[in-house]
Amino acid sequence: MAVFAEDVNLAGYTTLRLGGPARRFVEATTEAELVAAVRKADDEGEPVLVLGGGSNLVVSDDGFPGTVVHVGTRGTERVAAEGGKVLLRVQAGEDWDPFVARCVADGLAGVECLSGIPGRVGATPIQNVGAYGQDVSETIVEVRAYDREARACVVLDRDACRFTYRHSVFKGNDRYVVLDVTYALDEAEESQPIAYAELARKLDVRPGDRVTLKEARDAVLELRRGKGMVLDATDPDTRSAGSFFTNPILDPDRLAELERRVAERLGPDATFPRYPEADGRVKTSAAWLIDRAGFTKGHARGPARISTKHTLALTNPGGAGTADLLALAREVRDGVRDAFGVELVNEPVLVGVTL
Ligand SMILES: Cc1cc2nc3c(=O)[nH]c(=O)nc-3n(C[C@H](O)[C@H](O)[C@H](O)COP(=O)(O)OP(=O)(O)OC[C@H]3O[C@@H](n4cnc5c(N)ncnc54)[C@H](O)[C@@H]3O)c2cc1C
Repeated sequence: MAVFAEDVNLAGYTTLRLGGPARRFVEATTEAELVAAVRKADDEGEPVLVLGGGSNLVVSDDGFPGTVVHVGTRGTERVAAEGGKVLLRVQAGEDWDPFVARCVADGLAGVECLSGIPGRVGATPIQNVGAYGQDVSETIVEVRAYDREARACVVLDRDACRFTYRHSVFKGNDRYVVLDVTYALDEAEESQPIAYAELARKLDVRPGDRVTLKEARDAVLELRRGKGMVLDATDPDTRSAGSFFTNPILDPDRLAELERRVAERLGPDATFPRYPEADGRVKTSAAWLIDRAGFTKGHARGPARISTKHTLALTNPGGAGTADLLALAREVRDGVRDAFGVELVNEPVLVGVTL
């Protein structure tokens, strides 16, 4: 049976350890409970917040004036296997990294570079979770969801999910509650070709080479730990929501403006990271912009701090409130805009607050 409580402090459910009380809190461990909890809240006109592992959430100090539904559904099912592909349907409440670890152990390739990312399976389609050259849009074949508008369960195939960089049809849209996700993985002892230069260097291979699944996972975990990007209760740098800003993707006008500002600020020979996109735009590095705007690792504003290991992670090392974290985020965003004319956009979902 679903567990129901009132005035539950959300700080205990977010990796930032931030967020005030939820008026109502439902722990749903079966799909029926999950759908029923959302339907009931909708019937009563009550705001709903679907909560997974709380690793991509910034919740107001005032909490959430509605029902938080914590997704705790479990189970993984092998639904098909043909032509070297295995289809796994995974319940939304399964923890992501143990799932990745099982795939690696079972010789299933496609998610090994996504090792060490916190959170639950149901959130992976929301922002098209990605790292080290892989993202879930490459392996997700369908998402089954409860559609709050149609009041029915629906299936969205990969196209309907409209995946792009850290975005999908689900992000910034309360319509769908993800019930399960089906991934198509390759039966292989070797990884997908290593696409990310830093990971290739770590593995001492060339980009495009393959390594064993375990080698890929171990190298990713080591890189991530070095950046405070694997949750560790003893490491205050991991009390974050991961990267706080997405990497900006610039159209030609904004790129020209950045070139001008970089030359003006750092000298005519200065360069900045450029990753061409298929549509002709250019992605650059938010971490580079933040650092060059003067916000280096460990920069603090009150009790909130940039991680001492990673420029992109804003942390609550202890004693900060959401207001403190947002004050730091605004300082960084405004500083980058003033220095380089680029508007940084937050990656985590903001609940009851704005930047
Ligand atoms: C240390 C650290 C490192 C990270 N590294 C990465 C990284 O490398 N790459 C990356 O992409 N992300 C990264 N993240 C961000 C985060 O881990 C991912 O976005 C993750 O998928 C969030 O999962 P969650 O279950 O914690 O979601 P939550 O934080 O609980 O929720 C996030 C959003 O998804 C919604 N949501 C959650 N579950 C469902 C569901 N079943 N149905 C509908 N909506 C739902 C919520 O309402 C909310 O809007 C990192 C975070 C941390 C703390």
